[in-house]
Amino acid sequence: MPSPSPKSGRMMSQQPVLKNRRTLLERAEKFISEIYFTDCNLRGRLYGDSCPLESLASFLSSKRITFTEASKQNFAPHKVGDTFGPTWWTCWFKVTLNIPDSWRGKEVHLLWESDGEAMVWRDEQPVQGLTKEGEKTSYILSDCLKDEEPHSITLYVEVACNGLFGAGEGSMIAAPDPNRMFSVQKAELVVFNREVRELLTDFEMLIDIVKELGEGEQRGYQALFTVNEMVNLCDPCDPSSFSKVHSLAHNFFSQRNGESQHNTHAMGHCHIDSAWLWPYEETIRKCGRSWVTVIRLMEKNPEFVFTCSQAQQFQWVKSWYPGLFSQIQHYVKKGQFIPVGGAWVEMDGNLPSGESMVRQFLEGQRFFNHEFGIHCKEFWLPDTFGYSAQLPQIMQGCGISNFLTQKLSWNLVNTFPHNTFFWEGLDGSKVLTHFPPGNSYEMKGKVEDLVKTVKNNKDKGRANHSAVLFGFGDGGGGPTQLMLDRLHRVRDTDGLPKVQMSSPDRLFSELQADSALLCTWTGELFLELHNGTYTTQAQIKRGNRQCETLLHDIEIASSLALCQDGTFQYPVEKLQELWRLLLLNQFHDVIPGSCIEMVVEDALRYYEDIRRDGSTLLHNACGALGSKGNSAGVFNSLPWERHEVIQIQDGAGKPDLALVRVPSIGLSPVKDTQPGTQVSVSIQADGTILMENGILQTVINKDGTLASLYLISANRYSIYDSCYGNQFIMFDDVPLYWDAWDVMDYHLQTRFRVVSSGGLRGSVSFTLRISDKSTITQEIVMDAMCPYIKFNTEVKWAESHKFLKVEFPVRVHSPSATYEIQFGHLQRPTHRNTSWDWARFEVWGHKWADLSEHNFGVALLNDCKYGYSVHKNTMTLSLLRATKAPDANADMGTHHFTYAVMPHTGSFQDASVIQCAYNLNFPLRSIRCTPDTVPWNAFSISSAAVILETIKRAEDRKGALVVRLYESHGSSVTATLCTTLPVREAWPCDLLERQDPTQPAHITSEGIILNFNPFQIVSLLLILRL
Ligand SMILES: [Zn+2]
Repeated sequence: MPSPSPKSGRMMSQQPVLKNRRTLLERAEKFISEIYFTDCNLRGRLYGDSCPLESLASFLSSKRITFTEASKQNFAPHKVGDTFGPTWWTCWFKVTLNIPDSWRGKEVHLLWESDGEAMVWRDEQPVQGLTKEGEKTSYILSDCLKDEEPHSITLYVEVACNGLFGAGEGSMIAAPDPNRMFSVQKAELVVFNREVRELLTDFEMLIDIVKELGEGEQRGYQALFTVNEMVNLCDPCDPSSFSKVHSLAHNFFSQRNGESQHNTHAMGHCHIDSAWLWPYEETIRKCGRSWVTVIRLMEKNPEFVFTCSQAQQFQWVKSWYPGLFSQIQHYVKKGQFIPVGGAWVEMDGNLPSGESMVRQFLEGQRFFNHEFGIHCKEFWLPDTFGYSAQLPQIMQGCGISNFLTQKLSWNLVNTFPHNTFFWEGLDGSKVLTHFPPGNSYEMKGKVEDLVKTVKNNKDKGRANHSAVLFGFGDGGGGPTQLMLDRLHRVRDTDGLPKVQMSSPDRLFSELQADSALLCTWTGELFLELHNGTYTTQAQIKRGNRQCETLLHDIEIASSLALCQDGTFQYPVEKLQELWRLLLLNQFHDVIPGSCIEMVVEDALRYYEDIRRDGSTLLHNACGALGSKGNSAGVFNSLPWERHEVIQIQDGAGKPDLALVRVPSIGLSPVKDTQPGTQVSVSIQADGTILMENGILQTVINKDGTLASLYLISANRYSIYDSCYGNQFIMFDDVPLYWDAWDVMDYHLQTRFRVVSSGGLRGSVSFTLRISDKSTITQEIVMDAMCPYIKFNTEVKWAESHKFLKVEFPVRVHSPSATYEIQFGHLQRPTHRNTSWDWARFEVWGHKWADLSEHNFGVALLNDCKYGYSVHKNTMTLSLLRATKAPDANADMGTHHFTYAVMPHTGSFQDASVIQCAYNLNFPLRSIRCTPDTVPWNAFSISSAAVILETIKRAEDRKGALVVRLYESHGSSVTATLCTTLPVREAWPCDLLERQDPTQPAHITSEGIILNFNPFQIVSLLLILRL
């Protein structure tokens, strides 16, 4: 029988407690509360003595300047609580401090609380990120103060005038408030009681176990009684009581699981959007702040593993914080700091072209290899608006067979059925895919995260391993010591899943080793949310498409020039720089348009840089290709002969038209040829205009709608009876679905007039006032020999929450429509049978979409749009939106774009819809040549199914080209690639250009023989005889 303690109540610990879960739980909660009883509870003991700073002074800068520059400025005295700003400025603080000698043996922190994100600099190096929102308010000056340690220290603190999530006015995703002011609320020295911190973590974890396991689990009650007993034994005023309390908790945490328990693979992570609610430049500092903090944690926690994606961010840190970068290199070598993903940025999963996606990996993997000697085996894209069906093949081609994401848990309508599964792409390539079942890439290491991971796992019994990614994310921040401490306590605690600090490699090898029962998902991973991202920020979309096209042409022209002209220098470095700008803008909040206005301005400036420098490169390459004469010539970068009407200048320098014939991937002088049939344009009695080119015949109403569209060879009208084609519609764009729409009341503003009266081209133009604020001006163009009608469009757009689309109700009946995606195409339903069909009411596609029945169809082509919907027989192209957050001025202003309609017989494959969409996007380029230049072609391919997409200089070999082809029809085919270039050898290679040395490509006198499976991408290394 224990003797009664002098403190009454301690005896209670030996007696049965009241059967009331709530009282016990609340008692424990109050014991560590940050709000209640902090004068007498344990939480109130976290900090001991405090001491003011010796001095605090500040200097305000409108720009983000370097430490060296900042430290030279004049700093003025600053009081805690003084405000500074406005938004996006930077306030530098000079902090001098003097640690009292009496704190010997104590842990000493600089406590810094501010609403701006901060970086501490010491001895000219960044040492610690501080952000209140990311629960980092302490910089550790000493773990255990010794006499010989410096007591007088000068630090600099760089405070960005923005929070972790920018500076949204009112709400996080509202447009930023440009006038927000910031302050430092606390800056002082404190004694930090580590023992109290440890106990608080014990209490917190046990309380959470009680709450998360609920009343149905015996283990929860065991936690409850343990924590109650801990309250009994703990005297916050008497640290000698702590060790007993801690060992009670320790005993509970050490009661181990059985062998069958679920395994979680904890990995520190810090999702940093490369730009979103803040500009690119701020992201550089976010990386610095977040990653230096990670390094500090690694110094103290040798088992801590941190996964980090996006080569671009490493590149930024390398050039802005070289000291930090070498520390990172050190921890990469130790296997703690793990570069993941293999991509240049975490790009949008829908909109970048196939070649852009390849380049994301080419630049990313090469960077990681060069800087760290690392090859990423997983693709890492937790946060984007859907995933193309061609990604598995692209990943595999880049040496990646695992994929981690989680965004599909955001689906609005249907619950995605798997967490761990094989994802099979368009060509049949498979990758092992894992969605962390906790549905988050920014967990906090709490009991809730672990319990959710087990409960939500939709592959219970099939997959017994899951990822737990912990650390503040989106705006950066990353893991904290507290998160590590939490996870460390419950490594193997009966009732909770097992926790091991792990890596993507370990997680995926465990999953792979036990994958027999895993299911397969075939086709795209479509996100049923945010479908407006295919259309928002139309200038960014246009910049992306045009720059992808431009870089394609530069690489082809430069590759040919390399073979034609021995003195030509292939612009390796400049091209890499331009590609990297393009790839950066494909980040998953930039190209989708979900970013603030400042980011849009940066992105558009980067596109301007690419256009400006790119046109010089193209000019130089074309100059080296032609024989530098003075006559007009044309360069064709596409792998088929083209016979098209182009705009030229006549002898007097006036614009004129010519019909030219140019061989595939080659050039030709402009020799005007005559079309088989001229275009005729006639104004009919009712004021409508009839245009005809021998292929198509159309009647255009005065408001620009098509009264009819007739495919002559098929004797077939394409527009549905009593409907009009080219009909604009404006939707109210407020709710989640665009159900409500206005049938627009068009007003013809200018005369409907004929611009080109026939011959090589017929065209009419008109202007519609579509509201009191916006107008559409359009030129409808029919060219000789051309199987489609073009709509060159200019919109002056000043709407609010409206969505502009154009419709073509066509005479085609089919349950599915086809859309171009990266290196291929796929079908989606035109009906709404199930919720899965219905949820795809707005979808994405690239250059074309097609609705076909047997032997007849209509295709809708575009030169910079991505949003489509085809419902029943109505084909719709999404044109412009007018969202107001997070960019209040999104899409306001003037827009230019072209779309085209193309009725056809046969299938879209046989009708060359794919080639026509390429022609629309890749205009023939004007060059100068001598009049006697013989038309010349570099490559041709024997099968219409195979598209030669890319020709570039090989990354690592001066005398070699890489060509990339893909099968576009969805067929198995053998094709011959012919070239007039001096090719000595040809070798298959992967998308990273790594040669497959086992067998050279099969070369015959006809050319290189290539076999393709449906949608297969094939890359070849061509060794030149130069
Ligand atoms: Zn993100």
